[in-house]
Amino acid sequence: MTAIDLSGKIALVTGVGDNEGFAWAIAKGLRAAGARIVLACQPNRMNIVDGNLTRDMDRDSRLLPDGSEFRPEKVVPCDSAFDTMADVPEEVRTNRRYAAYSEYSIQGTVDAVGKEFGGIDVLVHAVAFSREITKPLIETSRKGYHEAMGVSAYSLVSMVRAAAPHMAGRPGGGSVVGLTYVAGERVVPHYGGGMGTCKAALQMDAKQLAWFVGDRNIRVNLISAGPFASRAARAINPDFDKLIAHAAEHSPLRRPITAEEVADATVYLCSPLAGAVTGQVLYVDCGYNIMGT
Ligand code: NAP
Repeated sequence: MTAIDLSGKIALVTGVGDNEGFAWAIAKGLRAAGARIVLACQPNRMNIVDGNLTRDMDRDSRLLPDGSEFRPEKVVPCDSAFDTMADVPEEVRTNRRYAAYSEYSIQGTVDAVGKEFGGIDVLVHAVAFSREITKPLIETSRKGYHEAMGVSAYSLVSMVRAAAPHMAGRPGGGSVVGLTYVAGERVVPHYGGGMGTCKAALQMDAKQLAWFVGDRNIRVNLISAGPFASRAARAINPDFDKLIAHAAEHSPLRRPITAEEVADATVYLCSPLAGAVTGQVLYVDCGYNIMGT
């Protein structure tokens, strides 16, 4: 049996907003494989995530396969709309949910984690946002489109730029994993607000980034996940369960995916088993992407 052991690795998992999304499952999967985890979430979600990590009622969501409870090394605030604190507008700085923190930019957060833990081995990008997600692309405003691109796609470029110095020279190399969706390459009409374009950009950016950091033995890959009823996904469409059922019915495996399967694929991509895999999209969608229906 080939076991995956990520002991001694430091993993920064961004896009954690609760205990329901992919980031939570991925963080637990990496921890179960031995990695030490730092969670990054939007400043306005810090209290929610803190509750998920401490409340009795959320205990089941913290359980790892060996029966122990998931505990990250720490939780840090990070807003993927801002590369440095100089980018933060006054109304955000003074917002009561942000005012408690002096640093939540991508550069500042990644640097602080890299310095505190002596480097970063794994970076997970699980961030996506479109204010106009419920509007079809053709109705999406220029402002909404640009905002979605900045938070959901450009943020990967910014994160990799910030993390590369901390990931260079790590034993076994560094691994960046992001999350994409089939709507980045095929028309999914309900996936609105420019998000399909964001995923298309993310996919091309991941390939380019793989080249730009490959000389430092840092790999960059994406997982294209099948539809899953996270909080973000439920916001796309109140009938999201029907979309999941449709995908399941039309997938070769005739079932929906689980978040744990996305976590397992992430663990693989961060392991020595994927040592020569970079610039790729790995489909974790029960095969849905190969179908013509
Ligand atoms: P999710 O839990 O809602 O994750 C999205 C995360 O992005 C949330 O925690 C959200 O925080 C965060 N975010 C939004 N704007 C941000 C910002 N400015 N700075 C920092 N974080 C920000 O939903 P998910 O479905 O697990 O999504 C994770 C990734 O998987 C996304 O890239 C998504 O596109 C991708 N994906 C999802 C599906 C699916 O069907 N669910 C399928 C394929 C790919 P807030 O809660 O504060 O907004």
